[in-house]
Amino acid sequence: LNGRERLPKWMKMKMPKGESYSKVKNLVNKHGLHTICTSGNCPNIGECWNRGTATFMILGNICTRKCKFCAVPNGMPLAPDLEEPKKLAESVRIMGVKHCVITSVDRDDLEDQGAGIWAETIREVKRVNPETKIEVLIPDFRGKMELVQQVIDAGPDVISHNLETTEERTPFIRFAAKYRRSLDVIKYVADNFGRAKSGIMLGLGETHEDVLKTMDDLLEAGCKVMTIGQYLAPTTKHMPVVEYIEPEKFVEYRNIGIRKGFKFVESSPLVRSSYRAEEHVKA
Ligand code: SF4
Ligand code: SF4
Repeated sequence: LNGRERLPKWMKMKMPKGESYSKVKNLVNKHGLHTICTSGNCPNIGECWNRGTATFMILGNICTRKCKFCAVPNGMPLAPDLEEPKKLAESVRIMGVKHCVITSVDRDDLEDQGAGIWAETIREVKRVNPETKIEVLIPDFRGKMELVQQVIDAGPDVISHNLETTEERTPFIRFAAKYRRSLDVIKYVADNFGRAKSGIMLGLGETHEDVLKTMDDLLEAGCKVMTIGQYLAPTTKHMPVVEYIEPEKFVEYRNIGIRKGFKFVESSPLVRSSYRAEEHVKA
């Protein structure tokens, strides 16, 4: 299989509808706001926006890394926009977002890997939107824990770092990232923030045993919330889909994960790490 072939029936997008969705969509268009939900053509947009959840990307839209599954363009990014924290806080307010997920490109070009803007953004979103829950999906900050600490100190509600795939598959799809380093970041978050969340994609050629081993590694690191979704190739130049995993298999993984000790395993083909994110605050 590859990205050009027909999608199995369970991967078909639901047409977004609903009153909140239409309202938010109009605001986004009117104010020229940027969300991953729209730029990534996420299949869950109707459901998420109706629930008041949206995902934003900070630190520009050009990444210094080049993961083989990711749609974000790679290259030399522009200098960070120091007004970005204020602008984002304002976007969250205008859209009436109740659960705000923030992620970023990786900024290996910056001395602090972007941690300063990260912390400032969290503080600003909280200041302008005190009722809004903030979930951050952070990069690995090259394993520099003092930078991860800056994010923790800013006081988000949930901190997530994705493993993306199994240890065995990592060198084939993640450029510059390392499985063990990501696990260290997750462990640091779990130890110093009190809880951590992570996610993987299926359909990249991973084995059943390796998915279970990934679960064990996450639990050992102290991670209790996990998301599992189907990988989709953004273009034909990206890593092709090796396999479309059947929905029943996702259910099986969820059940295994809960038995192993996770508090929450969000596992189905259309799951993205921010899908139903508001539920995970309670975990
Ligand atoms: Fe947006 Fe994430 Fe929901 Fe997709 S899953 S619509 S990116 S909040
Ligand atoms: Fe995409 Fe993140 Fe990889 Fe950059 S580091 S290419 S944003 S997945």
